[in-house]
Amino acid sequence: RVANAIDIVAERRHLQPIVVVSALSGVTDDLVAATNAARDGDGERVNEIIDRIRQRHEDVAMRLVQQKFDFFDTFVKRLDKQVEEIRTILSGVALLHEVTARARDKIVSIGEKLSSVLFAYSMMMRSLPGEHVESEDVIWTNDKFGGATPRMDLTADAARKTLLPIVERNHIPVMGGFIGRTVDGATTTLGRNGSDYSAAIVGAAVGAEEVQIWTDVDGLLTCDPRFVPAARVIDHLSHEEAAELASFGAKLHPRTLEPAIEAGIPVRVLNTQNPASPGTLITREGPSQTSGPRSVARKRNVTLVHMTTNKMLGAHGFLARLFHVFEELKISVDLIATSEVSVTVTVDEQHDIDELQRRLRDLASVEIIDGQCIIAIVGRNLLRDARVGARVFEALRDVPIQMLSLGRSGLNLSIVIDDAASDRAIQRIHHALFEQAVAV
Ligand code: ASP
Ligand code: MG
Repeated sequence: RVANAIDIVAERRHLQPIVVVSALSGVTDDLVAATNAARDGDGERVNEIIDRIRQRHEDVAMRLVQQKFDFFDTFVKRLDKQVEEIRTILSGVALLHEVTARARDKIVSIGEKLSSVLFAYSMMMRSLPGEHVESEDVIWTNDKFGGATPRMDLTADAARKTLLPIVERNHIPVMGGFIGRTVDGATTTLGRNGSDYSAAIVGAAVGAEEVQIWTDVDGLLTCDPRFVPAARVIDHLSHEEAAELASFGAKLHPRTLEPAIEAGIPVRVLNTQNPASPGTLITREGPSQTSGPRSVARKRNVTLVHMTTNKMLGAHGFLARLFHVFEELKISVDLIATSEVSVTVTVDEQHDIDELQRRLRDLASVEIIDGQCIIAIVGRNLLRDARVGARVFEALRDVPIQMLSLGRSGLNLSIVIDDAASDRAIQRIHHALFEQAVAV
């Protein structure tokens, strides 16, 4: 896979790329486990994990080495130095039996440190002018460890100073994603799966022409292909539409694309396993003049909370009291529908529903329905063409609908149904919206 990624970079050399890599798969999880093991005093487990991580990186480099053994040797020296450093930090954690957020970030950032050094050296071993850049020299953040936010002013300066001279030499900068630093020099991380975020930040900082997210799917699809084989790639999507889809479990989180999108830089999602496929383009506005459904997604493990009361009739402040209970219990509400005497909402199944029910009892009579799912039809101006709704409801003709929601923006038509019926429902909706020749 690394060789494959290097080929992808090599073929795009004329575009003057800057490469941002994530950790090798599973390494960040391993580092989290090692941190916890160190805190719990399990030195054996720590060693076992760190040895394994070290070995994996050496093995990858070994398999990629082509003639240029001196680069391989230098890489192994750097690898050993990094690994020593991480062992020292972990033994500090073991000694103290506690791990601060700051130490945790230092440790989990090692995954990208190692992978970026590996990638840069592997490029050199293949006669490509990769140049490793420390992420801390590029991305400056606040000190919210574990989920830091970039300081774009500082980052823009730093990114231009460190990256552009390399690009001008016709070399290819390689840096780890996920990592940043505070003004006083502490290492931070941008939150799990933060590498895409780093790429968007760097793209915005240097004013790139495009940010490409190379992943292992062909882009964003009209549906999950595991359930709907006829699902196909969406060629172009607005940021808003992508954001709606992301809340339904798309792998890519559009919040992470924001720095690029805000800077007016298009983002393209591409597949390393299928580089010839054009992928999905995400831009602020999306394709011009499109409206109608783009994708159908599903969110499972949803609970419906149906509250009925006559206290609402002509009253004010009632909804505020009702939602105050959700606030107190830190339960986030997804969909809402109201009538004169009832309010229905959906929440994630894992919340403490019993406690919620107890506290709502004085305000309304409450019915809880588990085992539901939300099917979302995402697109723009979904109401403009009445045939969209007609097709969806026709596809659901024998499936009882528990709840419906569609905002004025018409971005997301959400339908709550019993999860048991949802495989067939989603297939039929996809068929009705995307698999039939439709005259618009
Ligand atoms: N390595 C980090 C993680 O696993 C960041 C990333 O993969 O994007 O969360
Ligand atoms: Mg990852």
